[in-house]
Amino acid sequence: MERIGFLGLGTMGAAMAANLARAGYPLTVWNRTPGRAAELRKLGAKEGDHPAEVAAASDVVAICVSDSPDVEAVLFGEHGVAEGIKAGSLVIDCSTISPAVTWQAAQRLARQEVDLVDAPVSGGSEGAQKATLTIFVGGEPAAFERARPILEVLGKTVTHVGPSGSGQAVKAVNQVILAGTYLGVAEGIILAMKSGLDVEQVVEALGGGAAQSWVLANRSGRMIANDYPLGFKTSLHRKDLGIALALAAEVGATLPVAALCAQLETGLVTQGHGDDDMSAVARTIRELSGLEA
Ligand code: NAP
Repeated sequence: MERIGFLGLGTMGAAMAANLARAGYPLTVWNRTPGRAAELRKLGAKEGDHPAEVAAASDVVAICVSDSPDVEAVLFGEHGVAEGIKAGSLVIDCSTISPAVTWQAAQRLARQEVDLVDAPVSGGSEGAQKATLTIFVGGEPAAFERARPILEVLGKTVTHVGPSGSGQAVKAVNQVILAGTYLGVAEGIILAMKSGLDVEQVVEALGGGAAQSWVLANRSGRMIANDYPLGFKTSLHRKDLGIALALAAEVGATLPVAALCAQLETGLVTQGHGDDDMSAVARTIRELSGLEA
């Protein structure tokens, strides 16, 4: 079995690394802020002092950090992966970042004879815990085949979607569709509440029809309760829409709903709700509709 290094033990990374440990992969982990590896140590993982040390001890390095500059820091910063990694290694980046930054990182690592696949994930914190993620992979076919058994431990649907950066572009599409779905569900829930309907019954009734969605099934409860525990941080979805809107500007696509959702999320972040689950877009619709915020 390949030795795996896992960098970034946040909501997603910690759960994904735990699934790799349970599958029997020899694992070395690292997180920028110490103290996140206790559970993983119980599962047999070792802990490295910095990404270079983890990379030197691994055949495959998986990354799950927040944004493009963070992936660049982990790869190419001081004591970064590039300082420790051996030729012939593979990097799997599960973070959601810019397709262009991904492509540049892949070019830089190729100079060290290291492959990088972008493998952003969808399916929420539940998907990370239950290993049911959907994963979109960009990169060379041979690198994908090497990454595939590892990714199949983390998710149910693993698709090679094209060359370097394509996984991130597909993830941008995913986040644009989610923006519309979250806003649509939030508007429907608030309309039901304002109309005096039994909202729980409405959600159940709609579940079998054309308005059915993952968001309706899994996030409408939070919107009804006006309570938004994590989840997926609003600030991270705002970051993803920034990536999608930049891609749209590059290719000449017009995304009015994504732009609106980005603006509402900017408001939530400004009001201090950036760490709430992104179902908190319902908070803004509530407020505009005269319900308690
Ligand atoms: P999170 O809980 O906020 O964790 C972020 C992780 O990134 C932490 O381990 C953090 O380390 C690390 N990090 C951030 N900046 C760093 C830097 N400059 N150098 C080193 N480490 C850094 O976020 P998450 O929810 O796990 O999300 C991680 C990625 O998965 C994001 O790209 C997100 O968009 C994507 N994603 C998330 C979900 C979800 O439902 N949560 C779903 C799909 C995809 P510290 O502990 O030191 O801050």
